[in-house]
Amino acid sequence: MIDLDPHDLRICLRAGEGADAHGGAVLPPIAQASLFRKATMQDLHRDLAREHLTATYSRGTNPTVQVLETTLAALERGEACKCFASGMGAIGAVLFGLLKAGDHILFVNDIYGPTLELARRLADFGISHDQCFTGSPDAIAPLLREETRLIFMESPGSTRFGTIDLPGIVALARNRDILTAIDNTVATPLLQKPIALGVDLVVHSCSKYIGGHSDALGGAVIGSAQLVERIFYNAYMLMGAVMPPFEAWLFLRGLMTLPTRLRQHHADGLALARFLAQHPAVARVFHPDLDAAPEGAGNRRGHSGLFAFEVAAGGFARAVEVANRLDLFGKAVSWGGAESLVITGHKRDPGADPTLRIPAALLRLSVGLEGASALIADLDRALA
Ligand SMILES: *Cc1c(COP(=O)(O)O)cnc(C)c1O
Repeated sequence: MIDLDPHDLRICLRAGEGADAHGGAVLPPIAQASLFRKATMQDLHRDLAREHLTATYSRGTNPTVQVLETTLAALERGEACKCFASGMGAIGAVLFGLLKAGDHILFVNDIYGPTLELARRLADFGISHDQCFTGSPDAIAPLLREETRLIFMESPGSTRFGTIDLPGIVALARNRDILTAIDNTVATPLLQKPIALGVDLVVHSCSKYIGGHSDALGGAVIGSAQLVERIFYNAYMLMGAVMPPFEAWLFLRGLMTLPTRLRQHHADGLALARFLAQHPAVARVFHPDLDAAPEGAGNRRGHSGLFAFEVAAGGFARAVEVANRLDLFGKAVSWGGAESLVITGHKRDPGADPTLRIPAALLRLSVGLEGASALIADLDRALA
């Protein structure tokens, strides 16, 4: 079983507290209001000057969303957090809020596709980028430029779940005054603490494990009060990707069971990965806990239930066939809910190109809560 930090369990289970003013309710009331009245015009003026701290209008701050923000900041050991309508809302605000024309971003590791598409759009606004698939400081250093302002990382990375040397990259960035950000969605706030390793900003899609029930979209940015405030005024308030209070309430509810869900996702994911690793119809399993010596272990406590494998022979068409033969795995995008899901690594047949980073026959699994033995039996039958 993964060893979670008892302090985190306390934070998750009491996620909604601070509700003394509401008769001891275990979750905060849903402040379903777009605006907040103040006693005097002076009070209104004062609060408008600190909208990142005080609710005046829900495009800025909302009390229910604020409870989630405090909770996520505590889990990530950051000073401040801002929540967004989606993970992409959070990632977009980091890039728009901190960068300007002439700046350069270095992406490190496999990166969530839409994040890279957004970076390609930013090229039209004079912000350039490169990507390094190797996560060691030696490979990264030559790609850093005078104009590099941000190193944006994922670890474990999307799709192939490789890990990178976070402390080594942080040291390199600090020497050159470059900001570091990591998309920590795959690890969740419980299994890896990037801020404790010196990373400046953490982003999350709450739509995955934090919500945990495939019923809500949300995102978050966590970091120093100063950086989060910059992102708040330079991007968040102007772009309107606002998390609604009901969603914040759903995420607070989700956090209460996150530790327990993660323990089962981890154990069952690992059991499935080990089963697949010895299966003759499987060429390779991409799961960071199966790697003998993962690069720069950082402070990871283990992996969740999201991993991928390559079907042995027959390429993309065979992967599609195996996916279709699975009973318990829904064919769907996204991940992190109670139900198991499967998706191909490619949306169409990429052909037999040997230089492909993502194998043509890759299948990504999100291992849900159905139980390992039933899921293994399903996989065994589909691969036969
Ligand atoms: C899903 C996902 C996102 C985007 O989050 P949304 O809430 O869907 O906008 C970003 N990064 C990673 C790693 C993701 O899996």
